[in-house]
Amino acid sequence: MTAMNDDIVIACVDLAGRAGASGVDIGYINAARWYAVATYRGARIIVDGHGSPTAAALALAERLLSRAKCRCTQPVTLSDARPGCRWRLVGRRWEPGCDAAPITVAAGGRGDLAAIERAMALVPPGGNRAARRKAKRRRP
Ligand SMILES: [Zn+2]
Repeated sequence: MTAMNDDIVIACVDLAGRAGASGVDIGYINAARWYAVATYRGARIIVDGHGSPTAAALALAERLLSRAKCRCTQPVTLSDARPGCRWRLVGRRWEPGCDAAPITVAAGGRGDLAAIERAMALVPPGGNRAARRKAKRRRP
């Protein structure tokens, strides 16, 4: 069995869940060919041909983050050399570089890319910072 980096695989599954996917599958065709699939309603995002489950999970996370828009409304970047909201893998979690509040997708929206896009369209430029501050104040 190919060795697996649990943190990277867990971070990928967590990220896909936060990105609205209804499921993630990581599997193999043979020992040298691993794939990872994020499932949305009526759509799948697939990476294939990786040498290990870790590599497939990392590739899927990068695929989900590339071309993604952060909840602060900036494009996500994984490089200091590129503009946007700088995301990093921190332990078992992909973390944004901003403190914008999470986007709420209407009930039933999980896995529904159109519902997720509608929710994103309602976010003001810079993200829901005011809502986040309010939520922090409410906590004891
Ligand atoms: Zn951001």
